[in-house]
Amino acid sequence: MKDLKTDSRRRGFLKQAMAVLAAGGFVPLVFAARQNLVHGLRVERHKDGVHLVFDLSSAEGHKLFSLTKPARVVLDLKDTSLAQGVKLNINHVGPVSGVRYSMRANNQMRVVFDVDQSVSTRSFPRIYAGGQQFVVEVLPKHSSQPAVPVKSVNQAPLTARDLVIAIDAGHGGKDPGATGKRGTHEKDVVLQMARRLEKLLQNEMGYKPVMIREGDYFMPLRDRVDKARKEQADLFISLHADASPNNKAHGASVYVLSENGASSEAARLLAAKENAVDLIGGIRLNDKDELLASVLLDLSQRHTIDSSQTVAGDMHGELTKLGQMHSGKVEQAAFAVLKSPDVPSVLIETAFISNPADEKHLLTKDYQTSIVESILEGIKGYFSKNAPADSFIARADQREHTIREGETLSGIAIHYRVRLSQLRQVNSLSGSNVRAGQILKIPGRGI
Ligand SMILES: [Zn+2]
Repeated sequence: MKDLKTDSRRRGFLKQAMAVLAAGGFVPLVFAARQNLVHGLRVERHKDGVHLVFDLSSAEGHKLFSLTKPARVVLDLKDTSLAQGVKLNINHVGPVSGVRYSMRANNQMRVVFDVDQSVSTRSFPRIYAGGQQFVVEVLPKHSSQPAVPVKSVNQAPLTARDLVIAIDAGHGGKDPGATGKRGTHEKDVVLQMARRLEKLLQNEMGYKPVMIREGDYFMPLRDRVDKARKEQADLFISLHADASPNNKAHGASVYVLSENGASSEAARLLAAKENAVDLIGGIRLNDKDELLASVLLDLSQRHTIDSSQTVAGDMHGELTKLGQMHSGKVEQAAFAVLKSPDVPSVLIETAFISNPADEKHLLTKDYQTSIVESILEGIKGYFSKNAPADSFIARADQREHTIREGETLSGIAIHYRVRLSQLRQVNSLSGSNVRAGQILKIPGRGI
């Protein structure tokens, strides 16, 4: 799909170049430079501001800044121009009232957004099924005036928060974790996978990944839990690689904290092994802390274990599609790292590093990617049903899209990654006829 698109873009470029030649001219030098084409611009409501979404493969070296009198946001794009036939045109949405653009020297394209108040901006790339996008987020600056109470109690607050996903790469520093026959250290492959998962989550609207361990250093288990709680994580995912004296053991496993210690002897031994790293760090949890902790856990952990079970089940289901599971169900064990009383927590043994074939897999980009993609699907599946009410994901079904000239219902469905049938359903549409200016509700995930 993506290749076809690139191909037709290339053909468009060739046609353009040949037309210039046929007209007796020459191909201008700018065509020789790598040219990024803007294929479209859309506006999405986001929190109390907007996302200005460019269909654009690269915005490398871009500059984004604000100017005043009149207030406007300026985006300078290097080696970029509009694709043939594309016009930039937006309705007044949120603080953004209009858009202008011009080509400048050095093949630079300047896009100016008029805003009706002072705003803060940031930008980030986004990947979706149809290709790459570049997003400029424009948010109204919070005024120092006290907030005016909302008039209607039914009116939902406009701000919604991102779900915080704590990604914990197991072990680190002087604790290498398990080591494979080829000398692969668990601490290294799990950090690589953690970074891949972080990247995937950064490209998802409504999610904010937080890396518990950001490099190759030792971190006691309790510190990991504390960091997740301090970041107010909605979910804690600990990534590991398994080891067994039986080098035929293979595949991934998903663990949650057991209510009464280990649910099986194997799980108990594994928990002892993963937990033993705290002794390496010279930190011994004293008995009193453990007793106090267990009382607190009794009080508050019942609900968290239920949530952990649910999200672990979703992840196990996704990982099973890879056909690499070690166990047919979610396992329970007394991992210290899973003992957050208020953060649903899951530990994933991504494969057996002690198994030569698994060890080889663990080193490949393909395997690492498929594992973290499955975990991501598990996360999204879980939060599509269980997102806290104040989160963007829970409110995603309040998104709106104002239809512009030339847009189609199916194009909009692809853009928001929703099914065409869902889009029709929530907007009570039977056919595909839409008109410019019409406002569509965009369904959230999991509808
Ligand atoms: Zn481990």
